[in-house]
Amino acid sequence: MQQADIQDILRNTFGYDRFRPLQEKIIRSVIAGEDNFVLMPTGGGKSLCYQVPALVRPGVAIVVSPLISLMQDQVESLKANGLAAAYYNSSLAEAEARQVLAKLHNEELDFLYIAPERLMSPAFLTRLKDLDLALFAIDEAHCVSQWGHDFRPEYLQLGQLRQHFPAVPIIALTATADKQTRTDITQRLQLTNANVHIASFNRPNIRYTILEKQKPFNQLTEFLQDKKNESGIVYCLSRKRVEEVAEKLQDNGYSALPYHAGLSSSQRHMAQSAFQRDNVNIIVATIAFGMGIDKPNVRFVVHYDLPKHIEGYYQETGRAGRDGLASEALLLYGLNDIALIKSLIEKNGHAEQQRIELHKLNCMTAFAESQTCRRRVLLNYFNEQLAVDCDNCDICLNPPETYDGTVDAQKALSCVYRVRERYGANYIIDILRGSDDQRIKRLGHERLSTYGIGKDLSLEAWHSVLRQLIHLGYLEQDIANYSVLRLTSHARPLLRGEQKLILAKPRTKLNAPKEKKQTHSKREKTDRKAAPGLEYDRGLFEKLRALRKRLAEKMGVAPFIIFSDVSLIEMSAYFPASEAEFLTINGVGQKKLENYGQLFLKAIQEHKKNVQEPSHALV
Ligand code: ADP
Ligand code: ZN
Repeated sequence: MQQADIQDILRNTFGYDRFRPLQEKIIRSVIAGEDNFVLMPTGGGKSLCYQVPALVRPGVAIVVSPLISLMQDQVESLKANGLAAAYYNSSLAEAEARQVLAKLHNEELDFLYIAPERLMSPAFLTRLKDLDLALFAIDEAHCVSQWGHDFRPEYLQLGQLRQHFPAVPIIALTATADKQTRTDITQRLQLTNANVHIASFNRPNIRYTILEKQKPFNQLTEFLQDKKNESGIVYCLSRKRVEEVAEKLQDNGYSALPYHAGLSSSQRHMAQSAFQRDNVNIIVATIAFGMGIDKPNVRFVVHYDLPKHIEGYYQETGRAGRDGLASEALLLYGLNDIALIKSLIEKNGHAEQQRIELHKLNCMTAFAESQTCRRRVLLNYFNEQLAVDCDNCDICLNPPETYDGTVDAQKALSCVYRVRERYGANYIIDILRGSDDQRIKRLGHERLSTYGIGKDLSLEAWHSVLRQLIHLGYLEQDIANYSVLRLTSHARPLLRGEQKLILAKPRTKLNAPKEKKQTHSKREKTDRKAAPGLEYDRGLFEKLRALRKRLAEKMGVAPFIIFSDVSLIEMSAYFPASEAEFLTINGVGQKKLENYGQLFLKAIQEHKKNVQEPSHALV
């Protein structure tokens, strides 16, 4: 393999036509024996960066991975491409483990996936010193950093790797976008001389949408309407909410399962594996559901509640569309969530920690409140500038409407003033809308001049006004004190009528992204989820999907191990009729042609015959 052209490996082994941005440069550098540090978003194609060099350089590649499930999927994928891969972790029975070690010593493996603590055990290090090593790949390298959200103490030991094996190149990879974590990683892994590659963190295939939260379950089901058969994750803030939403979805006929840290490990494992294998469509989860998810065809991620920071939002939404096909990220954003998160922050941690977390929450709300291209705001948070608006977020597709909100703002602010800044948002709105709530009567607040002056606006509209007033700095919410609303010094000129205020109209409906509705007959063939401009036969796609599922079940692997959705879409677009044509499909290398070519070619031919015959009969 030494002299093999990397282009040949890409085509024959992995079935791809060309490298993605940065991949080739990184691969060449690893082959040359240099250290590399790779920052690429989820779905960017990090795996190939070490998999191709592993096949060119002599010896076995040692890949460090934090989770058993990730190792298993990677090993299955490599095997499906005809490569010799194994993992060595606590899930193996003793006999299996011995077999793996035997293969390792007989130099039969291209790849060995291993957990960091096993790798760094003195006995294992001694073993490795006798072997030819192609490279070390440290996947999910952010686990070494305490700044990151997935810190794993076992990863810290990996810092010694550089000294133990001075001649073996190390490649560390992560999708973590924040700067502090990045510098921490290179230091801790002692990769001071590594080439650093930073890809764009833009995920152009993910469409960002933010709605003001209002009857969230209805908003969710409306969103799900055109997503039958599609995989997605719904994130909630608490275990209780997870249970609730999952149950409601089930009651409404959706294929959904809950996932949170309060479930037994076998329940969690069952849910995750059902999701990976396309046996359940929707996982409703807390953020505990995360890193082990490398399913490429997650088509949507919903944040039912507000995430605590943009890092989390980016990471969670990033689980959608790893395969590059169009995907959606929906966030439901409500005033109560902000108060809830603030109270959680204030309950926990010391002052410095709280300050950081509150700052992060403010950035999150600023993102949700922003009236400019979401992608620009998001990337800007990670210090990346986008030159133009994205055309694939709710703001770009459906620019917000604004109105002169001066009078509404004055009503709200003066109501806060009249109740002496001692009540929270819900109560203020009750007064404004003239509610006949007992508490209002008891406190005599129905006699206030602001009682009932806001009947013209809905509850949601008032929520939106108050939220904007907080965000724009006219009101503040005193979280330590029952979230009561207080006026800031900026409120005065507005109350006195010395200033005008433009507000955004609330957005609670998903009317935006369904733009450019196509006629029915056309829609059946052209799916918006295909690669840009690629028309494909939906009927054939479903047949191939079913075939893939049957094969996967027989083999006990996830369907995406056999073929990605991208591969099936291309098959349904190009109707390959020969082995040579089948090989041109994205993701089809020699091994997959050999194993599945005949079955899929046959299914494609049969479908073609069936659709052609009836139309001939009509003529
Ligand atoms: P990451 O680890 O960065 O999240 P992966 O390595 O899992 O990303 O790759 C994401 C997807 O992109 C996978 O389905 C992979 O097969 C595909 N992919 C990677 N590189 C290429 C390429 N050069 N051409 C086509 N598809 C690719
Ligand atoms: Zn945009």
